[in-house]
Amino acid sequence: MKTIGLLGGMSWESTVPYYRLINEGVKQRLGGLHSASLLLHSVDFARIEAMQRAGDWEAAGRQLAAAARGLEQAGAELLLIGANTMHKVAPAIEAAIDIPLLHVADAAARAARAAGLDCVGLLGTRFTMEQAFYVDRLASHGLTVQVPPPADRDEVHRVIYEELCAGRFEEASRERYRRIMADLVARGAQGIVLGCTEIGLLVGDGDATVPLFDTTVLHAQAAVDAALAD
Ligand code: GLU
Repeated sequence: MKTIGLLGGMSWESTVPYYRLINEGVKQRLGGLHSASLLLHSVDFARIEAMQRAGDWEAAGRQLAAAARGLEQAGAELLLIGANTMHKVAPAIEAAIDIPLLHVADAAARAARAAGLDCVGLLGTRFTMEQAFYVDRLASHGLTVQVPPPADRDEVHRVIYEELCAGRFEEASRERYRRIMADLVARGAQGIVLGCTEIGLLVGDGDATVPLFDTTVLHAQAAVDAALAD
């Protein structure tokens, strides 16, 4: 079994399910008392969020690249960035390490394609919903990507930073996400990519009429598959 390196803390609310899902996956595959070999570098999210807001992606990339190098030096054999947004700096991180980076959008897109979908809706931070680093990565798998209109993108983004990353899960926000997902379905989405690692803590199956692709779950599964591959 390979050792998984996880860049976490973005936010730690979603790093907890990553840790649990990866260990559950290994236990399911190997049985008994098996659990994952895993190294976690959990960052101070306030500092990362400030860099995102300031648009200082270079500094954020430098910090995460240094953390990724540290995980590799400590023995990690593959790397996960436990957030969708910070895949914006995936190229800077990849340039700093010699181990493979498992891209979260690839995990989501593969699952959607395997389910036979051509068109997905995407929820995430504004960065994720609006920028090529994520949308084009999904599209490179042959998917058409629908994102909510600007006012709904603002609301999805606000809920992520003001509520979900702070550990608050409000019924009113769940209701708004349900409505936003229904609108995406009405515009042709055959499934919804939960492209933010905290969204699966707010909504789940039953909150939409189409399948949900929870990036935390799918990314954790991809890590288990890679760790246990020959
Ligand atoms: N965890 C989130 C994501 O998957 C949002 C927090 C962040 O901006 O890193 O994008």
